Amino acid sequence: MEKPLSRDDLIRFIRSIISNEQVEQTDSFYVLDFGAIRSLVDTWFHHLPTVQPFYAVKCNPNPAFLGQMAALGTGFDCASLAEIETVLCLGVSPDRIIFANTCKPESHIKYAAKVGVNLTTFDSICELEKIRKWHPKCALLIRIKVPETSSTATFKFGSKFGALPEEIVPLLKAAQEAKLRVVGVSFLIGRRALNFQAIQDAIETAKATFETAAQLGLPKFHILDIGGGFSSGPKFTEAASAVKVALEKHFRNELADDGLRIMAEPGRFFAKSPFILATSVTGKRVRGEVREYWINDGISGSFNILLRKNHDEIPCTPLTVENPICLEMKTWSSTVFGPTCDPADTVFKDFELPELNVNDWLVFHDMGAYTSSRGNDFNGFKTSAIPTYIADKN
Ligand SMILES: *Cc1c(COP(=O)(O)O)cnc(C)c1O
Repeated sequence: MEKPLSRDDLIRFIRSIISNEQVEQTDSFYVLDFGAIRSLVDTWFHHLPTVQPFYAVKCNPNPAFLGQMAALGTGFDCASLAEIETVLCLGVSPDRIIFANTCKPESHIKYAAKVGVNLTTFDSICELEKIRKWHPKCALLIRIKVPETSSTATFKFGSKFGALPEEIVPLLKAAQEAKLRVVGVSFLIGRRALNFQAIQDAIETAKATFETAAQLGLPKFHILDIGGGFSSGPKFTEAASAVKVALEKHFRNELADDGLRIMAEPGRFFAKSPFILATSVTGKRVRGEVREYWINDGISGSFNILLRKNHDEIPCTPLTVENPICLEMKTWSSTVFGPTCDPADTVFKDFELPELNVNDWLVFHDMGAYTSSRGNDFNGFKTSAIPTYIADKN
């Protein structure tokens, strides 16, 4: 199996960009490790060979990343016209796209009909009416809300998405009357996918929905979409085996007679670890024993999801111009600010860092999930347009 680049190789690659005088890279940039993407796709299919991943584009729509995913044969979960357009432009055929947004503007539904994206989700009567009007041939998955049991309550997901248990029968009947084709069930347990009981509850609830549909006389369901929320760390093996155990328990017959297509919509699983962010130090203030630094990316950019304060681990690797082996130097309690005039634009506080100066660099690992995709240009800092360099040993 292919491996991601080692930290040393990555740092060497980043140094080669920083010190390249022709490039003159002084603003933040990303490094995208293609080997890491291939390794994650291998890992997914190794552990979940029967589950087709439809990568959730919103997590990181970087074109090079999407292109690599397309080349590796994954599908795509798109939530809007623009995301569908982006994926189709890569040459991906429309049957590799699920329009996984339960409430779509009519213009987006018309577009999906025009380009042949024929699979979407719903959880309301209103959505069925729009689909009947603009895209009646579309195959539908009923998105269900998985009840949050006491064992899973730590990962509350809110009420925005998913049909409640008592809404399922009326929704399926309405689809039947409108002669729409409901072909299966989707759910998204989100971060609760870290909780194996939640995965199993969700698959059990999905199975009950398959049975409800059969009792109402709908054609047999044949798609189960287990959503996203998977992380790529060591916990993935356990999450995958929780999925397999639950599928074996609740869908054994369907799997045995080849009557079930299983899909998933992982975002962070694929996008998080292949992206590394390098930011340069643009300012410094010394207050007694405390060092304060400004970098050129912050909460309006890649750090909209703030780093957790965890004193066991430095969140970033410092790269100094003067002293390449700065990890062995004396450290200071340090604060790092983002570039904007928003006082909340603070990336982290109270971390130990060696003494840095303007034009030194901080490198942040695992920065691909919900980072650049949520950046904006607040205060004129173009954190939505950070360049990406590809690292590929092949
Ligand atoms: C955001 C989203 C995902 C991806 O979630 P991750 O936690 O990144 O895996 C999948 N499906 C839908 C419908 C989503 O909205």
